[in-house]
Amino acid sequence: KKVIFSGVQPSGKMTLGNYLGALKSWTKLQDEYECFFSMVNMHAITVPQDPEVLRRQTIELLAQFIACGIDPDLNTIFIQSHVHEHAELSWALCTLTYMGELNRMTQYKDKSRKSEQNLNAGLFTYPVLMAADILLYQTDLVPVGDDQKQHMELARDLATRFNNRFGDTFIVPEGYYPKETARVMSLQEPEKKMSKSDANPSAFILLAEDADSTAKKIKKAVTDSIGIVKYNDEQPGLKNLINIYSAMTDKSVEEIVAMYDGKGYGAFKGEMAEAVVEHLRPIREKYNYLLENRDYLEGIYTRGAEKASARAGKTLRDVYDRIGFIPRK
Ligand code: ATP
Ligand code: MG
Repeated sequence: KKVIFSGVQPSGKMTLGNYLGALKSWTKLQDEYECFFSMVNMHAITVPQDPEVLRRQTIELLAQFIACGIDPDLNTIFIQSHVHEHAELSWALCTLTYMGELNRMTQYKDKSRKSEQNLNAGLFTYPVLMAADILLYQTDLVPVGDDQKQHMELARDLATRFNNRFGDTFIVPEGYYPKETARVMSLQEPEKKMSKSDANPSAFILLAEDADSTAKKIKKAVTDSIGIVKYNDEQPGLKNLINIYSAMTDKSVEEIVAMYDGKGYGAFKGEMAEAVVEHLRPIREKYNYLLENRDYLEGIYTRGAEKASARAGKTLRDVYDRIGFIPRK
């Protein structure tokens, strides 16, 4: 079976962006691939996190994975920090990464602008840790949003660079991006991507959010003064809403535009909000149910860590051997 790796940071609760950009494809690919899905808490601490909140959000994230339809019996679901090989491979790959490559990364530029008082080296080397995450499992395919395209390129370059220097060790992974929803945009600033760490909660919709709040955020979403429901780049706010609407209902963009021919944004937003709420309802209910079952969740990440460690350990031993590290007797 071909291998998939992907992760989400427990830096908040999951947004519609995380769901449509990543989780939804995971659920479609899980039958066909051997999948490793991770709560990447080591990535999350590249921006300041409250320890208690980080712990809570890690468990909540696991519950959200399963509520979205990730089958814990079929897949390996684990907490990144439980598998020490991630940090170790990341270090080795750091020594093959050029400063200039990391300097070009737009996520680093965006996030460092936001947290100027906390410009830490971890934020800078984030993409190398991500490459390690992926390469440790000999991953073939990485289903992510297209904000991760640049990081995926680095992971591929590092795999190739390592293979060329030390001999064939890593599979060179491919990114997998869903078409219309590879980049869900902020509801408040449609030129920015939707992010769970956005300071303005009106910018995102959370999977676990209640129906009223979801509907309110959609009604408040920034559109334009054109007033006609059309799908184009001159109406970026509306375009984003249509993409979300389409993904939540499996109606095509054309069908949706036709449905609102001659109608205003009010009607569009009202029905769209209903569709989003209906789609999310079972996810939210399952999530709330799972949160009451801590032992069940603990069992999943405990088993996950064991399976992930076995695979990661194998790759890291091979890497250390090729680099010239003497194995401990
Ligand atoms: P943060 O703001 O803390 O970085 P985030 O919302 O960007 O949070 P991540 O944990 O960084 O979420 O990313 C998890 C997955 O969700 C990745 O595959 C990423 O590409 C995807 N993703 C994040 N935001 C979007 C978006 N707006 N549209 C589509 N996919 C997204
Ligand atoms: Mg992100």
